Amino acid sequence: MTDRTDFAARLLGWYDSHRRTLPWRAPPGERADPYRVWLSEIMLQQTTVVAAAPYFLTFLQRWPTVRHLAEAPLDDVLAAWAGLGYYARARNLHACARHVNERLGGRFPDDETALLDLPGVGAYTAAAVAAIAFGRKATVVDGNVERVVARVFAVTDPLPGVKPRLRALAATLTPDTRPGDYAQAMMDLGATVCTPRKPQCLICPVSHACEATRMGIAETLPARTAKADKPTRHGVAFWLESAMAVLLRRRPPTGLLGGMAEVPSTPWEAGGPPTPAAVQAAAPLARVPWRPLPGSVRHTFSHFHLDLTVTAGEAGDNWPAADGYWVPIGALKGEALPSVMRKVVRHALDHTR
Ligand code: SF4
Repeated sequence: MTDRTDFAARLLGWYDSHRRTLPWRAPPGERADPYRVWLSEIMLQQTTVVAAAPYFLTFLQRWPTVRHLAEAPLDDVLAAWAGLGYYARARNLHACARHVNERLGGRFPDDETALLDLPGVGAYTAAAVAAIAFGRKATVVDGNVERVVARVFAVTDPLPGVKPRLRALAATLTPDTRPGDYAQAMMDLGATVCTPRKPQCLICPVSHACEATRMGIAETLPARTAKADKPTRHGVAFWLESAMAVLLRRRPPTGLLGGMAEVPSTPWEAGGPPTPAAVQAAAPLARVPWRPLPGSVRHTFSHFHLDLTVTAGEAGDNWPAADGYWVPIGALKGEALPSVMRKVVRHALDHTR
């Protein structure tokens, strides 16, 4: 039986000399600001440290406290979030900031259960804020931690079904002391040593306690259930100009890319490109001579690929009849356009100028 009694002590010793310097981290020995921890953890749920860092710094510069974020217009927050994906998170981020500011006097709750009541805060973020910002004993489990735990205990059952078991096993390792540092040490270990491919077991501070390395199966873990292939949906986007402005539309508040701005398009459906009649029916302005642009825009969402062709038109004197709102082309940067729509804009500009 592998001895794991000094697992946390060894990991913390390693962390003290190898911790990553990250923009949201407090210096060694200092308690982290809950606002920074919360903001960074929401961002890190959907992207890497490298991709999240500039967004984090921008947010912090524009909205240095939860009160500033709460008082910001939602559209500004969505626009600053554009490119990070999963825009429902940005809306929840804003709703959470308002909740904390207006109902909790601008202070985040200091325990996991109360944190879970906040808009958009799930088990992962609640545990991370409780441990890192408030020094509470809480087990923080993200993809990095799942990988480390699956290997340390040589769990060969596949993800995602095995998640609850990995969480329970992770909890058996969590120490009573320095839980915040421990949580960050596990994340750092997963990100820098116990990496998905080629884990560096020879320099790993917990290799003595690792069953997978003893068995020589570390690289095969965690196992995953094979994913079904993603379907491809198709659509046509309408690039409609009038005097150097372009027509945009607001997506419905809930659902995919809810509340974001978009270039109007047909519905996105599987089974091939839309028929000419469907394209005509979805056009934002009737009787415009549309000109299909060459090529298409490809984008991958979590559960489907999207193939969008773009068709361009001039609104002329009919512009007031168009269904949407007009934005000068030079001002598109300030719009809350999701990544897929930024691709559409780039594609249209490349082929109309
Ligand atoms: Fe990961 Fe290897 Fe360390 Fe085990 S010994 S935790 S597999 S890096």
